[in-house]
Amino acid sequence: MAKNDQMERVVNLAKRRGLVFPSSEIYGGFRSTWDYGPLGVLLKRNVKDAWWRSMVQLRDDIVGLDSAILMAPKVWEASGHVATFTDPLVDCRNCKERFRADQLPESGACPNCGMKDSFTEARNFNLMFKTYVGPVEDDASVAYLRPETAQGIFVNFQNAQTTTRKKPPFGIAQIGKSFRNEITPGNFVFRTREFEQMEMEYFVPPEDSARWYEYWCQERYRWYTDLGIPEEQLRLRPHATEELSHYSTETSDVEFMYPWGWGELEGIANRGDYDLSQHSKFSGQDLSYYDQEHDRRYLPHVIEPAAGADRATLAFLLSAYEEEDVDNGKGGTEQRTVLRLHPSLAPIKVAVLPLSKKETLMPVADEIAALLRPELMIDVDVAGSIGRRYRRQDEVGTPLCVTVDFDTLDDRAVTIRDRDSMSQERVPIDGLLGELRDRLNS
Ligand code: ATP
Repeated sequence: MAKNDQMERVVNLAKRRGLVFPSSEIYGGFRSTWDYGPLGVLLKRNVKDAWWRSMVQLRDDIVGLDSAILMAPKVWEASGHVATFTDPLVDCRNCKERFRADQLPESGACPNCGMKDSFTEARNFNLMFKTYVGPVEDDASVAYLRPETAQGIFVNFQNAQTTTRKKPPFGIAQIGKSFRNEITPGNFVFRTREFEQMEMEYFVPPEDSARWYEYWCQERYRWYTDLGIPEEQLRLRPHATEELSHYSTETSDVEFMYPWGWGELEGIANRGDYDLSQHSKFSGQDLSYYDQEHDRRYLPHVIEPAAGADRATLAFLLSAYEEEDVDNGKGGTEQRTVLRLHPSLAPIKVAVLPLSKKETLMPVADEIAALLRPELMIDVDVAGSIGRRYRRQDEVGTPLCVTVDFDTLDDRAVTIRDRDSMSQERVPIDGLLGELRDRLNS
């Protein structure tokens, strides 16, 4: 399948099956934001839960946080965002479209109208959304929608450290919305003006920062492969010196092979003591840490893995999407679309499918649904032929289907059908939940 085709098919599937809808669609859309539908919200929530599980739940050195989107404007002065969070912007004099100067094609032609050398001088454009807090719209009431979640972590460093009594090396993790007035949003949910980040700040003794940077690069790469992204579609790309932000000594991006080429999924940066030292300076609060054991005081250095929940969701969707020819049971083949999502990411874990809508089967199907529902996200589908219902579940990545047929009434057994192998096995209803759990976790 051609790569652009694949993108188009995934976008179509997302719309058709309730994964992702264009925002404000009945008003003609609002370019640059998207809404996650009934299945999409489950998928994205699973992505965030998988991140939280690996970063917070399974570790004893990282704690969580949920800080506010609106913060004191001083935060953004201290962080450098007011002065330097800018992209170079150019206009095409011919068609009036705007572009990021650093993303123009080498040919010098306008990507919209094709006119050569038609661009204005680049000027810096701050990406932060401004708003006003309170009833008066003046300079004193300006506030910003946060462009990253990280600063909420830095300003709470001391609160989190003292209340949990954690000692460096330790981290603070946060998932939440961020906003950037991107000049050129696009590529579906890859670049939007409102998006969700999954960020963790790991505070370490200064002399250990290089080691921890390496550790987090490897850890974060492995998170994506463990959840099913093939290694050939993933790479860790260290930044060249001229690419580094002013505060960073080392940065690597985890990149995914999107249909349009390699693109950033996540950045891992060694930020040194930049953030804590800036916030100490601007707030007048001493944010250093006193290491009792070695009787010394220091500003911890910070390693930051900063990922995007939307970009990760898109990468999981793209790498899971497959069309294949399968046996149609009548001596021929037919095409099926299947999302080979990792079971922990799949929106629906198990579909319960009574073979017919006949009254005799429905009570058993209801009984099975009631058995599974408290533990697993399930879907009960009664409409259409059983083959069509399997295909519908395949295309949204449901790992397992449980089919209730007329024999079930006699033998109290059902058929489990596997999404990937399409193999079927009959199992007793007693023990069904355990069997499904084993299969989903294996
Ligand atoms: P890019 O170079 O693509 O603009 P960035 O380097 O500015 O990204 P970071 O500031 O490192 O991005 O943000 C961390 C993560 O947040 C990114 O790796 C990405 O997954 C996500 N992210 C950043 N900007 C956007 C956006 N406009 N839309 C969706 N996700 C985003």
